[in-house]
Amino acid sequence: MRTPIIAGNWKLNKTISEAVELTTELKDLVTATNNVDIVVAPPFTALDAVNKVVKDTNIELAAQDVYWEDSGAFTGEVSVPMLKDAGCEYVIVGHSERRQFFNETNESVNLKANAVLSHDMKPIICVGELLDDREAGRTESVIKNHVSGAVEKLTSDALLSCIIAYEPVWAIGTGKTATPEQAQEVHNYIRNILKETYSDEIASQVRIQYGGSVKPENAAELMAQPDVDGALVGGASLQAESFAQIVKNAI
Ligand code: PEP
Repeated sequence: MRTPIIAGNWKLNKTISEAVELTTELKDLVTATNNVDIVVAPPFTALDAVNKVVKDTNIELAAQDVYWEDSGAFTGEVSVPMLKDAGCEYVIVGHSERRQFFNETNESVNLKANAVLSHDMKPIICVGELLDDREAGRTESVIKNHVSGAVEKLTSDALLSCIIAYEPVWAIGTGKTATPEQAQEVHNYIRNILKETYSDEIASQVRIQYGGSVKPENAAELMAQPDVDGALVGGASLQAESFAQIVKNAI
């Protein structure tokens, strides 16, 4: 049985005080919600303050990115030990915005995932095709390339600590959601890639989230699909009410 995981990616939003306000409101709304992993990913500057709010609650903390070296002369970067120290349990890696604007590659995603795992934390590995890819019939080849590149050389145990987030790029921040059938088709395809690379048993335990314009209105039908194990939520995670509603729709 896979526990659904709902993660809110706040992207480049929220000052420290705004982040604390949002988390405080969210905490009260989801306090009685069980059987779902609830994760928020504030910007780096707000991690410590948000950690203080979520301590001893059912909300866990994620960072939106990381560098793979632990320390050294890498100006501007943040390492896994630093994120762990700030209270993070998860790190989002390979988000399409990082692939698009910050030269993220399969190779760097793999290095980041490995670094996160080596400190007993969990990477949320984002994969997804562009609209052009979908229209040209390249969805499966892009997904295969992203998934295989990200998990290359990971052991079965390491894979079990990974969450894969399928995020069709054409659905991110556009208001266009994949239909539940489109999402299920790709989630099933991802699980089959993992079956071929690992085993049925391992693949059946890996959680695969859907991301792309998830809202309270469409969350339940997306998460009702057999291979959809939760959601990575951008815009709708910036309001406590809408994010809490998505969380409640996961169970
Ligand atoms: C995201 O940024 O991961 C995302 C899915 O954004 P949105 O929900 O706004 O489409």
